[in-house]
Amino acid sequence: KRIISTQLNKEEQRVENSLRPQQLNDYIGQKKIKENMSIYMQAAKQRGESLDHVLFYGPPGLGKTTLACIIANEMGVNIKTTSGPAIAKPGEMAAILNKLEEGDVLFVDEIHRLNKQVEELLYPAMEDYCIDIMVGEGASARAIRVELPRFTLVGATTRAGLLSAPLRDRFGVVMHMEYYTTDELTQIIKNSAQRLEVEIAQDGAEEMARRSRGTPRLANRLLKRVRDYAQVKYDGVITKEVANYALDILGVDKEGLDKTDRNILTTIMHHFAGGPVGLDTLAASLGEDAGTIEDVYEPYLVMNGFINRTPKGRVATPKAYYHFGIDLPT
Ligand code: ADP
Repeated sequence: KRIISTQLNKEEQRVENSLRPQQLNDYIGQKKIKENMSIYMQAAKQRGESLDHVLFYGPPGLGKTTLACIIANEMGVNIKTTSGPAIAKPGEMAAILNKLEEGDVLFVDEIHRLNKQVEELLYPAMEDYCIDIMVGEGASARAIRVELPRFTLVGATTRAGLLSAPLRDRFGVVMHMEYYTTDELTQIIKNSAQRLEVEIAQDGAEEMARRSRGTPRLANRLLKRVRDYAQVKYDGVITKEVANYALDILGVDKEGLDKTDRNILTTIMHHFAGGPVGLDTLAASLGEDAGTIEDVYEPYLVMNGFINRTPKGRVATPKAYYHFGIDLPT
């Protein structure tokens, strides 16, 4: 199983929920987002209004769902969670909207995957807090207007460009989630270790942080696995040695790259002479979905200087060659 897969089973979901910070203050990193959201929330509260609709975009596992929950918590309202692929018909979305109370947060994960009809229902809902519902059939069919409470839609997506312009334009606040620094991840890992009641040394936390791909979800997931090694093979404490041992076995290398990352890079170097290679060609050669490569894997590889994106396609950098000990093409 892949270490950075986005499909969580029940147990992973449970652990994830138990590790979610509840307050903006406990939410590590994303400084700009925190500062802005804190002001928007205070202002809305002072005016006694609901918060503007918010869109968070960025790779999976960076804390979008967590932020949505924190917003609801800080605003003192309920949150209803759903996702783009979960809603098949406009009627289902209408039913969800109808049950919201004044100020509530509706969190829609993978909002770019809503189908067109459902999306169109959202336009008047977001803008004028009303929806038109069709009643009756055939010649007697007519639309009746239903007023909605003033709710806040919080949408999450991997890339803002995946949303249609009319939907994107209806968000008052659009925010980009950044990968976390090693220091931030070290703090997140230490906090999670405390909650999971496992002892972790500073150098153990730092080593894990360096190898967590800038992603809190991955950091938490690796922590759970490394804890098992610490318990069975060592005396229970996660030191740098334990972290290294476990992460090597889990297939996460020194730069935090997993098997798929390494496949992407070695394929560019071995099969395409280092590039440039187009995304679709690369995806086909890897047997991967192009969107997954572009939204989940590539951003981290680009940020860390392993891949360059050029107009002609993706190119492996000298750093990538060096990392794998492969000679640069001449
Ligand atoms: P996303 O919705 O972006 O895919 P989540 O909000 O589900 O990501 O976050 C995944 C996990 O990472 C959660 O268990 C959460 O506790 C943890 N996490 C995310 N962001 C932070 C943060 N800023 N501080 C602490 N933990 C975080």
